[in-house]
Amino acid sequence: MQFKNTLEFAKELDVNDALKGYRDQFYFPKINGKDAIYFTGNSLGLQPKTAQKFVDDVMQDWAQLGVEGHFYAEKSWWDYHERLAAPMATLLGAKTKEVCVMNTLTVNLHFLMASFYRPTAKRFKIICEEKAFPSDQYMLTSQVKFHGFNPKDTIVEVKKREGEHFWRTEDVVAKINEVGDELALVLIGGVNYYNGQVFDMKTITKAGQDVGAFVGWDLAHAAGNIELKLNEWNADFASWCSYKYINSGPGNASGIYVNEKHLADDSIPRLEGWWGSKKETRFLMKPEFESSHTADSWQVSNPPVLSMAPYLASLEMFAEVGMPALIKKRNVIVAYLEFVLQEIDKEVETANFEIITPKERGTQLSVLLHGQGKELFNYLMKNGVITDWREPNVIRLAPAPFYCSFEDMYRFGQILKEGILQSN
Ligand SMILES: *Cc1c(COP(=O)(O)O)cnc(C)c1O
Repeated sequence: MQFKNTLEFAKELDVNDALKGYRDQFYFPKINGKDAIYFTGNSLGLQPKTAQKFVDDVMQDWAQLGVEGHFYAEKSWWDYHERLAAPMATLLGAKTKEVCVMNTLTVNLHFLMASFYRPTAKRFKIICEEKAFPSDQYMLTSQVKFHGFNPKDTIVEVKKREGEHFWRTEDVVAKINEVGDELALVLIGGVNYYNGQVFDMKTITKAGQDVGAFVGWDLAHAAGNIELKLNEWNADFASWCSYKYINSGPGNASGIYVNEKHLADDSIPRLEGWWGSKKETRFLMKPEFESSHTADSWQVSNPPVLSMAPYLASLEMFAEVGMPALIKKRNVIVAYLEFVLQEIDKEVETANFEIITPKERGTQLSVLLHGQGKELFNYLMKNGVITDWREPNVIRLAPAPFYCSFEDMYRFGQILKEGILQSN
């Protein structure tokens, strides 16, 4: 398709957008009385208009039924989380039994590490990407210390090459082979939060397992953004967060994926709680834990139903639209955004930025600003564009295909241009 940087052309793309009806099903924050151009669906997705009703239903059931709501609410609470497992499994390319919605992301990674990071004197090292999201770094470091090892000679970071802004798959694989039989675990963000790169999860998973390590994925920026095939790729485990691309609401629940090959293996230790014990016998309150041999065995506490309500509302929208349609629009809208950025770069002599996201990408373009920096970011915010700023000089633009329009991309380009001209 030959793009044009005109309002007319952008509007034409919107008219032909199969998902155009969904924009109106979300609430947009307003800036200067107008809907914001929202690029932060990778940080906190917008609120679906259906979410409120799902929450109200739980509040009403609670008011009318009290404790009886556990079993007699229209959507009973004791198994509320199970309603989220199947649609979530579809997003992950997983089987329903491999998925349990529970806790929050970093918490889940700790729980999964309890099962899949059991270092020995010989096999104890962890491979991750350099400059991983801070929570993942703290999580890994504290796990290593918890097991009595020294993070300095235990955590091995795969670096980007000098002068490059992305990781090369061959460098990840080479590092895995180099660490070899000392490698206990590979844990990487499936989509990097900073540069938006999609890692080759299939190749890396196989490489890690070939040297005898477990391979897990942090899918914070991947779930609801890119196509995932966790079961086919044979990933050992994964976790994600739902408040980014999945639009479930601030700080909302995460979930775990555990590959089916591990589910019946009772030799794998877990940190257990009553809700992980088999539902058929849970309320007999027996002293022994009984595994259901599903991902639910990792569940510890009874589900926070109020927060799962808007999460379920959002998953129903994902089930209705499907990832293939979202990905189809995503590819075009991100390519259009890239085109608009390139046009502004050509048109404005003083424009000085660089897209650092590699071609293996999802919804996000990370733009490195040479020189302009924070004032430009502030200008964008004041003029109706919500982006985010990452030190030292990157803005991340994630036009979520569910609710962003092509017109947004065009308008953003015009505001950016004005901002650059004014800052010089
Ligand atoms: C957003 C994000 C987190 C956030 O962790 P929470 O436990 O949900 O606060 C962690 N890791 C990565 C890679 C993220 O992008």
